[in-house]
Amino acid sequence: MSPSSTAARSAPATSTLVPVPCAGDVRFDPWEHVRAAGIIVSVRDDLPNGFWGATDGQHIWLNARLGQLEARCTLTHELVHLYAGHSTRQPKAVEDQVRLTAALWLLPDVEEVLEAARWARSWAEWAQECSVDEPTIRWRMRAMSAPERKAARAAARVGFSA
Ligand SMILES: [Zn+2]
Repeated sequence: MSPSSTAARSAPATSTLVPVPCAGDVRFDPWEHVRAAGIIVSVRDDLPNGFWGATDGQHIWLNARLGQLEARCTLTHELVHLYAGHSTRQPKAVEDQVRLTAALWLLPDVEEVLEAARWARSWAEWAQECSVDEPTIRWRMRAMSAPERKAARAAARVGFSA
């Protein structure tokens, strides 16, 4: 095992693929962002099965069947692709980086995420409390340092093992 892979497991994953496209003191809102940036988003009910979203590097397509939180997170995911210059489906390692980056764009403040864990009885409730979908809260957990993860587990209510 290389020293770098050990470090990757214990250190918080702060390295994001691309920086969040808004000022640090403004909360990132993907819908607000696409409006301001003039990025065209097509919400369609004819995307291939299993496709939540897609981008060609300029435009974004979203599946019309997504719930509000899923759409918010999928739009953010596609925005990370767009700003990273991706125009086609990426290898799994890159997709994982995109998922991690999107989780950090949506939930930059770990203290807020930990506070929300106190009110949650499940991953789903924790995600809802943070206004993201469940995969995104799981990726945000992966982006935590070991002490932060420990704090999240301690904060979580009985019956919920984060
Ligand atoms: Zn992707």
